[in-house]
Amino acid sequence: MQNLLHNLNPEQLAAVTLPPQSALILAGAGSGKTRVLTTRIAWLIQTGQVSPAGILAVTFTNKAAKEMMTRLSAMLPINTRGMWIGTFHGLCNRLLRTHYRDAALPQTFQILDSQDQLSVIKRLLKANNVDDEKFPPKEVQYFINGAKEQGLRANKIDPYGPDERKKVELYQLYDDQCQREGVVDFAELLLRTYELLSRNQPLREHYQQRFKHILVDEFQDTNNLQYNWLKLMAGHGSQGGGALFAVGDDDQSIYAFRGANVGNMSAFEREFKVQNLIKLEQNYRSHGHILDAANMLIANNSKRLGKNLRTDAGHGEPVRVYEASSDLAEAQWIIEESKNLIADGVSRSEIAVLYRSNAQSRVIEHALFSAGIPYHVYGGLRYFQRAEVKHAIAYLQLMDNPHNDSAFLRVVNFPTRGIGLRSIEQLQAAAEQHGISLYAAVPYVAGKAGTSLGGFVRLIEGARFETQQMALPELVRVTLEMSGLLTHYQTEKEGADRIENLEQMVSAATQFVSEEGYGQGAPAHMGPKAQAQAGDAIVNADGVEIYDADAPLPTVMSPLSAFLSHASLEAGDNQAQAGQDALQMMTVHSAKGLEFDNVFITGLEEGLFPHESSSREDGGIEEERRLMYVAITRARKRLYMSFAQTRMLHGQTRYNMKSRFFDELPEESLKWLSPKVQSHWFASNNRKSAWDDVVPLVGSDNAIAQKIAQKSAGAGWRIGESVAHGKFGEGVIVNIEGSGGNARAQINFGSHGMKVLDLSVAKLERL
Ligand code: ATP
Ligand code: MG
Repeated sequence: MQNLLHNLNPEQLAAVTLPPQSALILAGAGSGKTRVLTTRIAWLIQTGQVSPAGILAVTFTNKAAKEMMTRLSAMLPINTRGMWIGTFHGLCNRLLRTHYRDAALPQTFQILDSQDQLSVIKRLLKANNVDDEKFPPKEVQYFINGAKEQGLRANKIDPYGPDERKKVELYQLYDDQCQREGVVDFAELLLRTYELLSRNQPLREHYQQRFKHILVDEFQDTNNLQYNWLKLMAGHGSQGGGALFAVGDDDQSIYAFRGANVGNMSAFEREFKVQNLIKLEQNYRSHGHILDAANMLIANNSKRLGKNLRTDAGHGEPVRVYEASSDLAEAQWIIEESKNLIADGVSRSEIAVLYRSNAQSRVIEHALFSAGIPYHVYGGLRYFQRAEVKHAIAYLQLMDNPHNDSAFLRVVNFPTRGIGLRSIEQLQAAAEQHGISLYAAVPYVAGKAGTSLGGFVRLIEGARFETQQMALPELVRVTLEMSGLLTHYQTEKEGADRIENLEQMVSAATQFVSEEGYGQGAPAHMGPKAQAQAGDAIVNADGVEIYDADAPLPTVMSPLSAFLSHASLEAGDNQAQAGQDALQMMTVHSAKGLEFDNVFITGLEEGLFPHESSSREDGGIEEERRLMYVAITRARKRLYMSFAQTRMLHGQTRYNMKSRFFDELPEESLKWLSPKVQSHWFASNNRKSAWDDVVPLVGSDNAIAQKIAQKSAGAGWRIGESVAHGKFGEGVIVNIEGSGGNARAQINFGSHGMKVLDLSVAKLERL
């Protein structure tokens, strides 16, 4: 048996081996919180204090859950597959699948990701003639999710004023609609489980007795509903509950905008009368300069629980700071530095480029692409969110649960089969009248509309029949064919990519079936009853049937249902996946919990990072600072920071000041770089050059750059200026390259796109 404990420092060791009581591990980035949590699970099992079935571990992403299982299997000779390690959503999904009847859900209930949820709301507004300018769908969505996160149903809200009354009314209609369709959104997964367990005493006691140890990572980002869910699971306030072991870092709380409540940490300490509070202050991740920067920055926040970080790793290299003339120049610099790193033998996957907003990635992507550096972008449209994949999923959803109206509407006329808006309106009226789903309402529609809709129903029924005995991958393949999607995209101009994505789904299904432990040939439609083995269901003292939650997932879901849940949950997970040999690009939010040898933090400009929205909200700047702290602490060896004088964002050129965060970093840990070779792109605006602040590496470069800038300004054109062109119409100069007769301008012509024009030739008019 391995010694699990020999790699821990004394504080970590104390945390791992705490007695079975509630505990809070409060510690900064890279201090080994996640490692402590995983090791504690292994230690509890190894020392026989609990069986693997008695553990409930909550992680922030599916990926983190998988990683935890992998690490556990490496530490212990156990099969982690059946263990309850997952995200809040994933664990709730599992509970609701097992107890769907008690939760008043259909067995094949389906999960709405936020995109789907928004489209349900849009439909609802339309059907009820609600003015969507007065009640924008996104606002209604925010209201509903906010209420659910407070644990409030519509009938429990006391509305404030007529507008809120309307929203509450819509919330109720939305919930009714979801119930009719058999779909649940992300917040509903939690609330429904919470309500199920609060109302159903035998079930609640079953789980409270079963989960002796509940462990939560990234506790600072739990919202109220999640915290209450944990309290319920841990049997807080009742006899014989489990011990809650929470690890977190108040300085890394970055989801307040989504309802996370860092106050849960102190609430937990108080309510659970936590005796064991351990701080870890040794950082194992980052070199000294990087850590100094993080420490000094975060010291500017006022509301902190107080802790610091130290390292034995030595100072390491200073943090490199680069001021670029434009976003293009910034991208170019990232390319140059990355190339140097790669030439020095650094693996591409150990280079991460972080940005505050997704919109920033395009320019960098373009530069990487031109330079031929493989890269991977996270947090953009993930596989399961792509339109063609969503269409295919909708067909699969209808085969599993035809009453899912969202899925129905998505594909009833896709590929086109002559079902127009009028027919759909007729169908919606019939469904409304009888209080049933669209699918069930088809027989009530007469005439031509009825005939074509009937054709669609027959298509779905036919596919169901055809695939009855098929294993999941085969079922997916046949569905893609029968739906007509493959043929449809074959005729589309840029359909090749989409077809490839669709074919990927067969592989995804194959991989899913093997990873989740379904027999390769297990019929995809076959439900729990048929697959459950004798002894799976147990009856407790109150005569309530409880499935043995140890049984692996196949006994509670058909492979098809499980695959569809997986797709929805994965679509909602926006965290990166390391491991490929490609440069990693992601938002700072998605980088949480990860680490890389080399990290670039880009776009450090006022309005961008800190984001402009933060100045409007209470505590907004402090949250941005925590986000910056998260960004800095992702780096192990080298950290790069950059900002640009001009930037194209959302179709506009912006002139930004450098981020205030620079003033909060220790000057002795920074090394300001001036462009090695003056970049081709430079700003020629006449504001004070920010190069004044830069200590040049080579003095003359700076002087030359300024000269060129002056010369180019003399040519008459300036970055940010509006111009008109005979062929491309109106545009904005984004950048100017070269000077005199060689000057070229990069101009954004809106719908005509970006063009580079020779200034001595192009006929431009000043606007
Ligand atoms: P974050 O706040 O970013 O989530 P964390 O506190 O969870 O960070 P970990 O990811 O658990 O930190 O650990 C950071 C790094 O330090 C990991 O690479 C981990 O393996 C390493 N590490 C942790 N503890 C030790 C130790 N005692 N000895 C050597 N390496 C360690
Ligand atoms: Mg961690």
